[in-house]
Amino acid sequence: MDARIKSGHDDTGGRRLSPPEHARPFEMIAAPALDASTAVAAAERPSLIGLSRPALAEALKAADVPEAQLRMRAGQIWHWLYFRGATDFAAMTNMSKALRETLAERFSLARPEIVAEQVSEDGTRKWLLRFPALGAGRPVEVETVYIPEEGRGTLCVSSQVGCTLTCTFCHTGTQRMVRNLTAGEIVQQILVARERLGDFPDAATPQGAVVPSEGRLVSNVVMMGMGEPLYNFNNVKEALLIASDGDGIALSKRRITLSTSGVVPEIPRAGAEIGTMLAISLHAVRDELRNELVPINKKWPIAELLDACRAYPGLSNARRITFEYVMLKDVNDSLAEAKELVRLLKGMPAKINLIPFNPWPGARYECSDWERIEAFADVVNRAGYASPIRTPRGRDILAACGQLKSASERMRKSERATAVG
Ligand code: SAH
Ligand code: SF4
Repeated sequence: MDARIKSGHDDTGGRRLSPPEHARPFEMIAAPALDASTAVAAAERPSLIGLSRPALAEALKAADVPEAQLRMRAGQIWHWLYFRGATDFAAMTNMSKALRETLAERFSLARPEIVAEQVSEDGTRKWLLRFPALGAGRPVEVETVYIPEEGRGTLCVSSQVGCTLTCTFCHTGTQRMVRNLTAGEIVQQILVARERLGDFPDAATPQGAVVPSEGRLVSNVVMMGMGEPLYNFNNVKEALLIASDGDGIALSKRRITLSTSGVVPEIPRAGAEIGTMLAISLHAVRDELRNELVPINKKWPIAELLDACRAYPGLSNARRITFEYVMLKDVNDSLAEAKELVRLLKGMPAKINLIPFNPWPGARYECSDWERIEAFADVVNRAGYASPIRTPRGRDILAACGQLKSASERMRKSERATAVG
């Protein structure tokens, strides 16, 4: 994930595309590993994280919490988990010791193991998180990235391990789909980030953290990590409803963005049942090219996708759909395509995000030249669209779109090679 700036509108001149000159090797912080016995025991007990309120009450009922107390207890636990960031029932001091002990025997509040935490020169942070196996599967690893900017801090969250889709410019698209993340695993990415950033009440902010001016470190969430969120609909929905619940993490739905490659039939459902902001990975203005770049387009072509966008509930100038457009040299970056993009989006409350392509080994594309990106942005700006160009962020820690996880896999392989000699 990269952060974004407004091209031509920010006070730095809006022309900060080239990698920051100060980029230096990242700082690697030793991960606070769980000891093996705790991890195993925790994995055997069902987790309470990621359950809806009714499901949480149901779990408590199965643990013999009296019927008359269910709502209250579920509310208390919710507050401890999501508002306070509790990781242990013992901390939940408004419940009796006996109840806390019963709950601790039955349920887990375990967070994933933090395999690695990297901090970029520019304050971007990246975590490699390991979740236990589900059933007969293996443990899985995902990455979560935090990008601090003036006035906000954005967390880029993964929805799947790998992706079933095969967008040709995306490194995740070359990886095998391992499994969907559970609602709990999606929420835990937010909890881990908030904990490591000291973003829960009464927690100390770690040294070197860049605190956005509003004071809240994780102020925005984007589902732009690994995976296609609308192919893991129910879990993403549960997780985002928890993230936006006012008694807990309490992020406004306007500060949560779900990004999709264009799973058209699920877009109305996302609007009706999740209600967050929507981003569309458009990347091309002609079906022929989009079929190649974003192959799901063969199923749901551009016209159908845009119809679904126009019908997305609650659109207004203050609540626009974001269209992501990755800049691929000599592939989709002509000025004719910029004009066509503007024509296609006519009449729709839209924002256009131009994303400089992040290259990866073996990729068949190059990033467009900066002059071309500027000229493309000018066409879009002149048509009245703010067209932020994402500034590359966290390049020194490889915290880029489509590079999550794969980069750290490479890194660890090379580390292993060094260790073996
Ligand atoms: N699957 C969803 C969300 C995850 S991808 C989707 O496709 O929208 C998040 C964003 O990163 C998408 O807009 C995606 O197209 C973009 N992206 C993927 N690989 C990229 C790369 N190498 N360079 C720039 N952007 C990339
Ligand atoms: Fe999957 Fe999104 Fe990458 Fe396409 S761009 S392969 S949908 S993660």
